[in-house]
Amino acid sequence: MAQTEPAATGERYARQSVLPMIRAAGQQRLADSAVLIVGCGALGSVQAELTARAGVGRLIVVDRDILELHNLHRQILFTEQDVRDRLPKAEAAARHLRAINSEIAIEAVTTDVTPANVEALVQRADLVLDGTDNFETRYLLNDCCVKLGKPWVYGGVLGSDGTVMAVQPGQGPCLRCIFPEPPDASTVPTCETRGVLNTAVMWVAALEVTEGMKILVADPAAQVRLYALDIWGGTFASVTPQRNDECPCCGQRQFGFLTGKRGSSSTVFCGRNAVQVTPERPVNPDFGRLTQRLNSLGRTTMNGLVLEFETDKHRLVVFPDGRVLVLGTTNPTEARGLVAKYIGS
Ligand SMILES: [Zn+2]
Repeated sequence: MAQTEPAATGERYARQSVLPMIRAAGQQRLADSAVLIVGCGALGSVQAELTARAGVGRLIVVDRDILELHNLHRQILFTEQDVRDRLPKAEAAARHLRAINSEIAIEAVTTDVTPANVEALVQRADLVLDGTDNFETRYLLNDCCVKLGKPWVYGGVLGSDGTVMAVQPGQGPCLRCIFPEPPDASTVPTCETRGVLNTAVMWVAALEVTEGMKILVADPAAQVRLYALDIWGGTFASVTPQRNDECPCCGQRQFGFLTGKRGSSSTVFCGRNAVQVTPERPVNPDFGRLTQRLNSLGRTTMNGLVLEFETDKHRLVVFPDGRVLVLGTTNPTEARGLVAKYIGS
C-alpha cells in the first residue's frame, strides 16, 4: 500500500488556528513550545495526546511505572498489546504519540521525578502539566516551578470529582497559597479505595490542557481560576484564588520539598496493590547478572527496558535507575524486605 504523506502543517491545524483565541500566531507559539508532562497515567496520557494533536512542538513525557491491564479503563492512549509487552508508560505513550503526530518532537523519560532531577526536567520546558497521582510530587513541582519561574497546571481527579488550577509564578497564587500543606497520605482516599470515573479523567485533563494552552498562546483575557467539578453530579464551579503573602513557597521562597526533605524511600502507589522502593543512591543494576541469579528462584522476563521477576505471590519490576516496583503488596516494610531479599539493597 502506498504511504500517504502527512498533511501539510497548515491543513493539519486549520480547524484550531481559525479559532479567534489561537490564530496563526497562537499556533506558532504552540509549535515553538516545550511541554513537560509529569506522570503519564490517566491524566497524563490524555494531556499528552491532546497536546500532541494540538501541535505543541516538543513533548517531554515522564513516568516511573509500567502498564497493567487495570490501567486501560481510563488511560486512553494505551492498548492491550502495550500491557502484553509490559512497556513503561512513557515509552508506550511516545510510540503512540509519534504515530499520531510525526511532525513534533516527543521524548520519553522513564524515571521517578525527585528533588535530584526535577530542576533539570522543568528547566527544559515552557509549561509543566501535572499528570501525577500523588501530593508529594505535586508539592515538589510547585517548589521547582516557583523557584524557576515556570508555569504549571495542577490537576487532581478521584471518583467523579476533579480540581484544576494553573500556577503562574509572579502573577498569582501557587499551590501552597491555597493548600499550604499536603494532606496526610494515610487519610486521603485513593483511586484504589474510591475508584475513578474515566469521564472525570477526560474532563480534568482537558481542563488542564486548556489552561496550559492559554498560557502558551499568551491569551490576554486569561485569568487564574481554581476549578472544582463533579461530572456525575453535573456541577462545575470556579473561583479566583488569592495569593497568600505569607506563603512559605512563593512568599518566603522556602523550597523545602525541593531541598531534599523527600519522604521515605518507599511509596505506596495510588490505585495499585504496589509499592515502589527507591535506592538511597542512584544505581545501575546489572540486568544480566540479576537475571542469572533470579532464574532459579522464579520467572524472569527482560524486555530490554525493565527486568521483571515473578514469584508465587509477588512481582518485582526493576528499572534501569535501580528503582523496584513491588506488586502484590501495599506494605512498604514487606516491599523493602522483598527487594532486599531478591535484588539486594
Ligand atoms: Zn504561594
